[in-house]
Formats: sequence, structure tokens, C-alpha cells
Amino acid sequence: MTKNNKNSQIYEISILSRATWNLHSLNNEGTVGNVTEPRSIKIIDPNTGEAITTDGISGEMLKHVHGRFLWEIVDKKNLCDGCKKMEPERGFRDETIRSKKNFKEAAKEAIEKCVICDLHGFLFHEGEITGSRDSLIQFGWVVGKGEILRDIHTHARHAVGERKTSKENTSSQMVYHRPTRSGIYALVSVFQPWRIGLNNVTMEYVKNVNRRERYELALKAYQAMFLRTEGAMTTTRLPHAENFEGLIVVSKTNFPAPVISPLKDSYIEEIEKINKNLEEIFELLKFTSLNEFIEKVNLLLDREPYEINLP
Ligand SMILES: [Zn+2]
Repeated sequence: MTKNNKNSQIYEISILSRATWNLHSLNNEGTVGNVTEPRSIKIIDPNTGEAITTDGISGEMLKHVHGRFLWEIVDKKNLCDGCKKMEPERGFRDETIRSKKNFKEAAKEAIEKCVICDLHGFLFHEGEITGSRDSLIQFGWVVGKGEILRDIHTHARHAVGERKTSKENTSSQMVYHRPTRSGIYALVSVFQPWRIGLNNVTMEYVKNVNRRERYELALKAYQAMFLRTEGAMTTTRLPHAENFEGLIVVSKTNFPAPVISPLKDSYIEEIEKINKNLEEIFELLKFTSLNEFIEKVNLLLDREPYEINLP
């Protein structure tokens, strides 16, 4: 592995942003009868200190979307048999990985063989190979900031062939209710390039892993997921994505990238002050549109994932 100048290495990246999504239904509580309920969460509003109920999209949903775009852009020969088929159990569905004698060996095989197992983690749950790897990519809840407009729309589905008869028989209609929301959403995510290819059992980097390429793929999947918002009900509620703004915090040394919620009005100023107090160890990349987000992530693509010095 070529060891570049340490200053071009990236230890961690946090993405703190606000997205304006109109008319979406990206995450819901579930459907009771014919009514689908939007997902609600309770938080303390950081600007007023009051407890409020607002709209949420789970971190699981966003992580799933990141993984799905990663799958789209990766060369499928760099995936295990489970991830090739988008199986949620990932490496646990690969015979070579499962046949290893213990978890340490199984984890090494999964990390070496598969980009998604390495970046998104896994959970093996069988005999000697029981164990887990935490994801290098983390998402928090996406949270409605300020007023979120919520509507429930009623739709009717007609049975085929019974549409518009002269005496319309209403009993042949299925009426259902679907939520739609519009608003500004706060989003937090962390990516830990230093852990790419690092076996979490032995704390050794697995050989034959193209760490740089995996780093680049993870960043490109972030670009893809915000360019095309995916989630629940996008077949008929594809969000009108209108704006995307925020801050990318880049840590170039072995110190974690901070996360402050973009729900807070002053989140950018606060990170700037923290950076001053920590002798400017972070690189701060602000963006005010989706295009600027793409440009700023492009600046990071040529860099190297940080490699910790192991004795
Ligand atoms: Zn895999």
C-alpha cells in the first residue's frame, strides 16, 4: 500500500445537513386496516427546549438506501454470495465464509471478499462463527425541523372491469388512506474510513483489500442517495427534493469527527468554534445546494483512507 502524506488521509467524515423534501412518504409506522400512519417521533427542540412531536425517518431506512446504492455502483465480483443477491444476512449467506472454523476467520474472509460486508457490517449467528461487525457508515434519525406539513390523502382503487359502470357499485372500490409530508429535515451521518479493511476481532488490516477503492465507493453512494431520495412509497410518492444544505466535517487525524444536530439553528457556528478550540484539526466543507454537496464530496474522492499505525 502506498503511504501518502498523512495530511491527505481521511480518518472520519461526518455529514450534517438539512434537506427539503416535499410530498414524500419515506417512512411510515405501518398500515392498520386501510390507513397508513406516518412515522412520528418525540424530541426536545434544541432551539426552544420544549418537548415536541415531529416527523421522522429512521436511520435504518437511510442505511438501507446507502447500501442499495452501494450495490448499484460496485463491481459485483467484489461481493460475497449473500450481498450479490442483496440478502440482509450478507456474508452469513456465503458458503466459503460460513465454512470457516471460527468468527475471527469468517470475519477476515467476509472483509476480504466483500465491499458491502466490510463497509456495512454483519451479524453471524451460528455456533463457532457467532459474532458481529459494526457498520463503518452510521445514520441517525432524520428529523423534521420546524413545521412539517402532513396530509392524509384518500384514494380509491377500482377492481378491473368495474370502472365507470353506469350504476357505480361503491362496494367494488377499495378506499385507502396514504400520508404525504412536506418539510425541512435534519440529517446526521458518520463514515469511518480508518476502519476500512480492519478486522475488528484481531485489529489488523486484512491484506488484499483495496481500501482506497472502497473509500471512494462509500462516498459515491452518499452522492447517489441524496441525488435520488429513496425510501418507502417512492412508487407513488417520489419526493420532490428541493434543497440540500449543510456541512461536511473531515477529520484528518485520529480524532472523531464531531456531530451536532442541524436541528439546532447555530450548528455550523458551533462546529467552527469547536474547530478553533481544537487547533483546526478538522476541514469544514459547507454546501448550500445538492450540486455543492456533490462538488465537496468530489474533493474528498482523491484522498486516502487513514491507516492507523499498528505495532
Ligand atoms: Zn457481503
